[in-house]
Amino acid sequence: MKRLGITGGIGSGKSTVSRLLRQSGIPVYDSDSEAKRLMHTLLRQPIEQLFGSQAYEDENLNRKYIASQVFCNPELLNRLNAIVHPAVGEDFERWAEEQSDEVPFVALESAILFESGFDSRVDVTLLVDAPIEERIRRTVLRDGSSPDEVRARIAHQNTELAQTKADYVIHNHTESALAEQVNSLYINLKQLWK
Ligand code: ATP
Repeated sequence: MKRLGITGGIGSGKSTVSRLLRQSGIPVYDSDSEAKRLMHTLLRQPIEQLFGSQAYEDENLNRKYIASQVFCNPELLNRLNAIVHPAVGEDFERWAEEQSDEVPFVALESAILFESGFDSRVDVTLLVDAPIEERIRRTVLRDGSSPDEVRARIAHQNTELAQTKADYVIHNHTESALAEQVNSLYINLKQLWK
């Protein structure tokens, strides 16, 4: 089963691309939400070992506490990533195995496709890109956060790797242009992998 990796910065339109692909029958693994699921189940014990019992509040992951701990501590962030990334990678492999042979390909969506090494688990990679002011505007609309908060989150992300390494780029300027590009990528990949 061939695999497409989808990446892009905050508000670039990754999830929108994933939704369009799903509408065409392509199963998409959302690594962000699957990582959250794993952190509530399989990974709870190692995460509590690393951060202490404060890592969970009631049954929920205390994201604020964890974010505050790793914010100025890259070593701790590396150790958290060393717990989460391999588990998500293995879960993706299991999921991919379970998908029907009838679909032309499957996809993996990850904001950190290259940084996490997930790119090695896919055959081709796609960067979803949009003008930065547009990304801020869309994210503010979606999350209700302030433009400055979104700018700070963007500044924290490193999209250079994806800019240089991605096999395909989709420019998400408008919704109709996006749908057209996703459709032609879908047709190209179907042709390539038939
Ligand atoms: P994040 O990494 O923050 O989850 P993302 O890359 O998955 O973001 P989306 O959630 O797909 O981005 O898009 C951000 C917001 O912008 C969403 O509310 C989405 O509906 C909207 N959006 C995406 N593409 C367009 C577009 N071409 N025109 C207008 N709105 C758009």
